[in-house]
Order: sequence, then structure tokens, then C-alpha cells
Amino acid sequence: MSENFSKYIIIGAGLSGLTAAYQLKKAAETDFVLLESRNRLGGRIYTNDAIDLGATWFQTHHQNVLNLLDELGVSRFNQFSKGKSVLVYSTMAPEHYFESDPNAPSAYRITGSSSALIQALAEPLVNKIRLQTVASAITEIGNTLSIQTNKGIFSAEKVIVTVPPKIATRIEFQPELSEVVIRAMQGTHTWMSNAIKVGITFKTPFWRDKNLSGTIIGQVGAVTELYDHSNAEDSRYALMGFVNEGLRDYSPEQRKQRILDYLVKYLGKEIEGYLSYEEKDWSQDWNTSCETIKSVYMSPSYGNPVFERTYMNGRLVFSGAETSPLSGGYMDGAIYSGILAVKKILEKVR
Ligand SMILES: Cc1cc2nc3c(=O)[nH]c(=O)nc-3n(C[C@H](O)[C@H](O)[C@H](O)COP(=O)(O)OP(=O)(O)OC[C@H]3O[C@@H](n4cnc5c(N)ncnc54)[C@H](O)[C@@H]3O)c2cc1C
Repeated sequence: MSENFSKYIIIGAGLSGLTAAYQLKKAAETDFVLLESRNRLGGRIYTNDAIDLGATWFQTHHQNVLNLLDELGVSRFNQFSKGKSVLVYSTMAPEHYFESDPNAPSAYRITGSSSALIQALAEPLVNKIRLQTVASAITEIGNTLSIQTNKGIFSAEKVIVTVPPKIATRIEFQPELSEVVIRAMQGTHTWMSNAIKVGITFKTPFWRDKNLSGTIIGQVGAVTELYDHSNAEDSRYALMGFVNEGLRDYSPEQRKQRILDYLVKYLGKEIEGYLSYEEKDWSQDWNTSCETIKSVYMSPSYGNPVFERTYMNGRLVFSGAETSPLSGGYMDGAIYSGILAVKKILEKVR
């Protein structure tokens, strides 16, 4: 046996891969490793300076997120939404103000930012994670799968691929996967891979003093959605949202100016006194995105049945938010698929 042999290998240490590892550990399995191409964990969950530049919200029906947070002892809190929100629906008509129904279920956020979930999952797995390890080929050799990476060959009895299907087409599978599977992988948009997020921090939540919630919605301006992104303890104040993709090709300085001007218009001059400003354009991040990104404003359909099957004699299983028949694209789907994948690999090889 080579030095890099383990019973199980998980490719990708985003939410799905880490959930799969957590499930293996719960099932008393210890012989596994995670291979992650980035130099950090979490994939599309990425928090910088307390700003969630990737995933943020979940809802009351996202039972897999709720269960996992409870199991790990990570708490949640409601998205702040008190006060007037702004709807900008036309460049000609004035903005419209509305208030959220205080009795309607509000979106949740994770206390300590979304990365708190990743940290809690990863904490007992530190020795099992290989960062900056890019899988480029998976070859079936006898009773094992051999994984070619930039850090050498790893092999395992069974492998869970949690890389988003479209990005996983970069991996060479030997024997080749069928045309149907390849087409499904190519045709599965990676949720939010086209998004640009912006986060701005402030000394005070000045908008609240004006009875504004910090929410601004509308497709016609520099920011399409903006929310109060202050922390759960209400001691660090921020606004965070999605940048209009029409600004993607502007220079960073021009884009920032357009965004700040837009927010000044609806929240006030205090915007200019920000403490920090950051953006992340996921379309430029090759671990999530690819050349053929396109704007997707409707939720595309996910959970193609080809991802439910196992391949290479039951040794290869797909997982990840886009493969999930439930809550496809979302954190809930990433967790659900990780749980399903482990159930599949713990079954006897068929
Ligand atoms: C801007 C943005 C906002 C979002 N907002 C929300 C939200 O509010 N609520 C919500 O529920 N969801 C949201 N999402 C979606 C959510 O982030 C995903 O559903 C979830 O994080 C996906 O987890 P995953 O493990 O399936 O995939 P990923 O997080 O993409 O993990 C896959 C991992 O595989 C790694 N990888 C890629 N290629 C290779 C390779 N060749 N070898 C080894 N490793 C590789 C990647 O680096 C990555 O770490 C958002 C996403 C983005 C980008």
C-alpha cells in the first residue's frame, strides 16, 4: 500500500465535504482524508473581517442547517430588519419604502459569521485535511481509486467528489464517465458563481437612527440587494449585499465609487465615513467559477438523478449543493448531500 492510501477520500473541503467528514467520524470511521484545492476551508462559505462574502442566510425550512448547528452547538440569530426598507424599482420613479411584517419568519444568520459553522466542523479534522491539493484525475485501478494531485497520488477504496459538478469536469475520470453524466456536469450552473458581494463596516449603525433597516432592493442601481450585516452581539456594524453585475467590468475604483454614491443616495452621507470596504467577485475565483459564467436570476434546477447514482463499481460518489435533490444550491443542500454521500459509501460495494 502506498503512503497516501486511506479507506475514504473526500475531494473538496467546503460545507458538503466537511459534513461528509463529520458524518464519517460520527460513524466511527477514522481512515479518511480531505483534499482541498484552496489554501483555506469552507469553499463558498467565506468570511473576511466578519463579513460573509459567500453564504449567509438560511430559513426555518432549512432543517439540515438547523440540525447541524444544534449538534455542533453553534447558535443563530435573526437578520436585522427593523425600520423602513427601500425598494428602487425604476430609474424614473422615486424609491418606495416598506416595512417587513414583524410576524413573518425572518431569515437566520449564524452567530460569529457563517465561517463559525466551518470552524466547528473542521476543528476535530485538522489532521485529515490537505490544503492546496488539487485533484486532476481519478483512475480506477483494481479495488482502489487513484487520485492524481499536484501533491502526488492519493488512493482510497471509495471517493466522494464534492467539487461543484461544472468545476469537476476539469477532473479526468478513467474509465471515462458516460456522456450523460458529463453533459449533466457541464450543464449544472454553480449556484452564485456569478455573484459579486460587497461589505462595508461602520463605527455606528447610523441608518437605524433614521428608522432605516439598511435593506435596499432593486435591479436598477449599483447594488441589487443590501442588508444590515452587524454582528449578533450588536457591537460591530456593517452593511453587506450584492453588487449589480453590470459593474463587473468597471475598474475597482469606479465600481466602489458607484456603489458608495448609490448608498449615499438612500442611506445618507454617513456612508462616506466607512471603516472598511471589501468586495468579492466569485466569477474570478477559479475554484468556484469557470469561463462560461452567466447571470442566473432564477434558481436553476438541481439534483439531477445522475448524481444520485454511484460510479466506478460503487467506489465513486458525487456530493455538493448542486447534486442535492433537496435545497439544491443552498447550504441546506450541501449538508443534505454530504449526509447522503456517506450513507452511500458506507453501504457494501455493489
Ligand atoms: C456569494 C454567495 C452567496 C451565497 N449565499 C447563500 C445564502 O445566503 N444561503 C445559502 O444557503 N447558500 C448561499 N450560497 C451557496 C452556498 O455557499 C453553497 O450552497 C455551499 O457553500 C456549497 O457547499 P459545497 O461544499 O457543496 O461546495 P463548495 O463550497 O463550492 O465546496 C467545494 C470545494 O471543492 C474545492 N475544489 C474545487 N476544485 C477542486 C479540485 N480539483 N480538487 C480539490 N478541491 C477542489 C473548492 O475549493 C471548494 O472548497 C451562496 C454562495 C455564494 C458564492
